[in-house]
This record gives sequence, C-alpha cells and structure tokens, in this order.
Amino acid sequence: VTAARSILHADLDAFFASVEQRDDPSLRGRPVAVGPGVVMAASYEARQRGVRSGMGVAGARRRCPGLVVVPSRFGAYLEASRRVFAVLDAIAPDVEPLSVDEAFLDVTGLERICGTPEAIAHRLRAAVREQVGLPISVGGGSTTQIAKLASGAAKPDGVRVVAPGTELAFLHPLPVERIWGCGPATAAKLRASGIATVAQIATIPEPALARIVGKAAARSLAAIAWNRENRPLRPGRGRRSFGTQSAVRIPAGAADRLDAQAIALVERVTRRMRSAGREGRTVALRLRFDDYSRRSRAVTLRQPTAATETVLAAFRGLLDAARETTEQRDLTLVGIAVTNLAAATPRQLELPFDDGPGAALDAAVDAVRDRFGAGALRRATLLGGDPGLTAWSLADADTDEIGSARDLRATRARTADRLSDRAP
Ligand SMILES: [Mg+2]
Repeated sequence: VTAARSILHADLDAFFASVEQRDDPSLRGRPVAVGPGVVMAASYEARQRGVRSGMGVAGARRRCPGLVVVPSRFGAYLEASRRVFAVLDAIAPDVEPLSVDEAFLDVTGLERICGTPEAIAHRLRAAVREQVGLPISVGGGSTTQIAKLASGAAKPDGVRVVAPGTELAFLHPLPVERIWGCGPATAAKLRASGIATVAQIATIPEPALARIVGKAAARSLAAIAWNRENRPLRPGRGRRSFGTQSAVRIPAGAADRLDAQAIALVERVTRRMRSAGREGRTVALRLRFDDYSRRSRAVTLRQPTAATETVLAAFRGLLDAARETTEQRDLTLVGIAVTNLAAATPRQLELPFDDGPGAALDAAVDAVRDRFGAGALRRATLLGGDPGLTAWSLADADTDEIGSARDLRATRARTADRLSDRAP
C-alpha cells in the first residue's frame, strides 16, 4: 500500500476575461467576452447569461445584450500566467502545468511545515489575488482526477478539498461527461448504453464496459470510478510553447518553396508535441525579410491539437494573410510557435479516446521516423524540392521562444557554419 497522496489543482477563473476586468475597472461586474470573432473566454457575468467560449460573437450578443467584447491581449495573459506560476512554484516543490491557467501541485508531506491541504489552498488563493490580482479556484484530493474535479466544484473563486475516505461519495453522483479525459465520443457511447453517472461505471462489470468503450478505456474508467487511478505528476513538463524556425533564402513570390518550408516546420513541431504528449491552441507565424523587417501573426483554434494537418492548415492561413509582404520581399527566416498548451488528454490517461481522423496517420509517420530517422519519410512536395532546403529544415534551431535574440544569433552562427561547410 502506497502512502496517500495530497494533490491540489489550481485553475484561474475565466482567465483571459479576468485579466481584462483586472486591467480595466469599468469592465468589473459586467458581462465580458474576449474576442474578436469567436468568444475565447467569458466572464462569469456573461456565462450566467449563456455565453460560452467557442461561440461566435454575434450569437453571444444575441443571448446576452449588453455583452462587452474586448480584443484579446496575449502578451498580458502570458505575463499574468508567468506571475501565477511563480506563486505556485513558491508554494510546492512539484508543480505540473496543464495549460497557461491551470496546474497540479503535489503537497504530499507538506502538512507539518505548511498546514493542511485546505490551508495551503487558501494561502495559494490569497497569494495569487494579492500578487497577480486574479481569482483562482483550488480543488484538492488524493488523486489528480479528484483534485481536478474538485476545482470544478469549487468554481468560481472557491476551495473544495475532498477528504480522504470520501472520494467515492464525491465521484459517484457525477455525470460521466465530467470525468477528466472522457471525451464526447466516449461519453456518447456510455449514454447510449444507459450509463449516465460515475456510480454506474463503478457497478458495471469491466468486460461489459469494455464491449461499450473498448478494453483500454474500460480499464481506465473503472480505475477512475473506484479512485484507483494513480497518475503521477509530471513536473518536468513546464514548457509553455513549442517552436522551431529555419534560416532560409526564399525569393519574393516563391510560394511553392515557402509552402515546402511551412510543411517541414509544421511536421517537426507537431511531431515534438506529440512525443511530449502536448497539444496547443495558438499557432504563431514569424517571418524575417532580407531588409531585417519582421512580420508575426497568430491564430487561436477552438480546440487544442497536435495534429499535423490541423496545424498546417492554420499556418498556411497565416502565411496567406502575410502574402502581401512575402510577394514583395525576400525571406530570410520562417518560424512557427505553438502556444496555449494543454496536456494531450487521450495520452495523459492512456485512453484511446476521440482521436481525430489524422491521428492514426500522424502516429504511423512518427513511428517510422522514430525508428529510421526524421528523413526517412518526406511528403511528396518536399521530394522534388530544393535538397538544400530540406537538409536545412531538418537540422535548424529548435527553440522554446521563437525569435529571441539568443536563438537568432545561434541560428545565424549555425547557418554560417553550414554555408562554409558547403563551400567547395
Ligand atoms: Mg481556467
């Protein structure tokens, strides 16, 4: 028998909208949505009137007359996120970020020095409120699943710690959709078989459950329903973005070469995300031209993803929006960053839940490349391309934060090395 663990899950309330209300007092107490086109976050005042993230702004306004829609400010959100994580890191030695606005903390064994998990949770909330000015809810329990569900029950702006021994009483009345890692497709299968609550999952024999959702999912769901799941924290997963860039020389208007470069960058970055079990919602493009001018653009998707095709479609959209410039000037650097990260839910619980149609192909390509090297498989569009370009794109700098002076210097130095290597 392993010693009982004590896990907290801290989750900022209506994160982007709360930052807007913090920075503009006239927005406080009013229904606020962060837009512009699609609601990326809604304040609790807006949620009470039916506004949800992912909704079109027009529809949200119809539901909630008087809705204030403000444009997103990612710089402010990332800065707030950094400051919140500084608070969390000071509270517990093991912090696992799940995304920009939520994290697990392992507070096992801290009782003597820091007090009960509940006392730590209250201190955490007060520190985030004082030092960052944002509301944060905290859930606690003996597993990550319980802590995550408890923070949901604590919202908004509250604490809920599920005491040891009361986990099943907390879990069993919950609807199956609430289970962390149970996607809509699995929930629909359960519902179609008349299974609506966690209690029903707990009582159905596992082989019968396996016939409904498959073997692996059944095993995981049964473990969750009996609170036997013991997912460890992954404190090493502290990164907030995945990025990669290539020094290039692409003449103005060479759209095919630019697209080949885009494919190589997207394949590299999504492969790394998949192997780290991470997904991201925001795709950013960075360009540098031969006159040293720069362009950057970003788009935020509705769902986090690490799928090559989805990220590529978003990246191509960004390139298309920058066409006015790329048709006029020679390019010297192309970069991509994927931010707004979340853990890849299926992998996290090791449930084969709800993978998109491209997932099997991505997994197959990853497997071949893991075995035979990144150059083993290339898209047809790259095969006919400039071999120098392909060689470069496979070897160039991988960076956490694209475009920092250090990275650019490193890329330039490596590029210079390679050019001198190639000199006859
Ligand atoms: Mg949140």
